[in-house]
Amino acid sequence: MSTALNIIHASQLVTVRGPLRARRGLELRDLGIIRDGAVTIRNGIIEWIGATDELPDKAAPEFDASGKVVLPGFIDSHTHAVFARTRTDEFEWRIQGTPYMEILARGGGILSSVKATRDAPALHVQLAERFFEHGTTTIEAKSGYGLNLETEIRMLEAMRTEPHLEVVPTYLGAHAMPSEFVRNRAAFVDKVIEDLNTIAERKLAEFCDVFVEPGAFTSDEARRIFARARSLGLQVKIHADEFQSSGGAALAVEMGAISADHLGAITDADIQRIGASNVIATLLPATLFMMGEQRYAPARKLIESGAAVALATDFNPGTSPTLNMQFVLSLACTQMKMTPAEAITASTINSACAVLRQHRTGSIESGKQADIAVYDLSDYREIPYFAAVNFCVATFKRGELAWRKES
Ligand SMILES: [Zn+2]
Repeated sequence: MSTALNIIHASQLVTVRGPLRARRGLELRDLGIIRDGAVTIRNGIIEWIGATDELPDKAAPEFDASGKVVLPGFIDSHTHAVFARTRTDEFEWRIQGTPYMEILARGGGILSSVKATRDAPALHVQLAERFFEHGTTTIEAKSGYGLNLETEIRMLEAMRTEPHLEVVPTYLGAHAMPSEFVRNRAAFVDKVIEDLNTIAERKLAEFCDVFVEPGAFTSDEARRIFARARSLGLQVKIHADEFQSSGGAALAVEMGAISADHLGAITDADIQRIGASNVIATLLPATLFMMGEQRYAPARKLIESGAAVALATDFNPGTSPTLNMQFVLSLACTQMKMTPAEAITASTINSACAVLRQHRTGSIESGKQADIAVYDLSDYREIPYFAAVNFCVATFKRGELAWRKES
């Protein structure tokens, strides 16, 4: 039996329709808005979009979106959503000016999440239902709080067994140097490379990521890891130039990475490299905001260079405890001077490209999964404008109502 649903009378149906590739330059501003829009969903797939008065099949049950904005579900293409506990102590220490080295000495930082994750009896995607509540229908999530094969596998399994939210798994075995290897870096990199065989054999991850930054891993170490990952069929993502420019963005271009993420300290030369490449520049302004930084990634320069820009939360227990993409849009607009339309394209189709899901999701057009969010607003620009207030009232995942606000 087929199931059908018509979403009708959207004041703005923001389709973001167009080519199934990342948008660049002025394309980022083209949202393909249909006024008084309607969507027919059949068996979880979008069958038809257009104006409500042209709806071909009027018999299906209706969801009335009068006075509301309808958007593709957000794709949050960079998270660390599998973790064991929050780091609120560290949050408070940082506010009080405690130096990072002292935070580490008190047991804070990434390694505190590693200890908690290794010790946790069970792992899951944190706050998975809350993503739906805020209009997000697909996330990417990274391992990297295990730093040993057993715990890395447990993290990736937790993503695979998440029952509702679509989770794209990334192996981040080289996230930080575990304390047991500090005197033998090369042995740890060798171990990560060896463990890739098991990860690939068991199909636990689609992407391989490395944190390339002084204090984490060098470009040379990352290059070795990525060479093995590519040979096993995994795609590449890089934590690049987050705090210091250290060759991460250039390495992303060299390795044919799908995305280079953070880029807070990218050089002008590397902006041109990324702009001329297919690498998606994924910007994570919530991290810098939550760290109290004043300097953000150069979104305007990247867009002007022709780069395909995406946005994500970086949801993680240390530096970015937000999962609200609407808030990320507000930061993208106010701190990085992206227009609301650019920010929406960056959070939908371009983010879908950053997780290689552009054929299935990231826009509202016939043939795609019905991953759709409804906001109690009449103009899409009000999403970043009403900062830090959640206006999402309903979220559909593959045509099923994944969340609805009680009225
Ligand atoms: Zn990250």
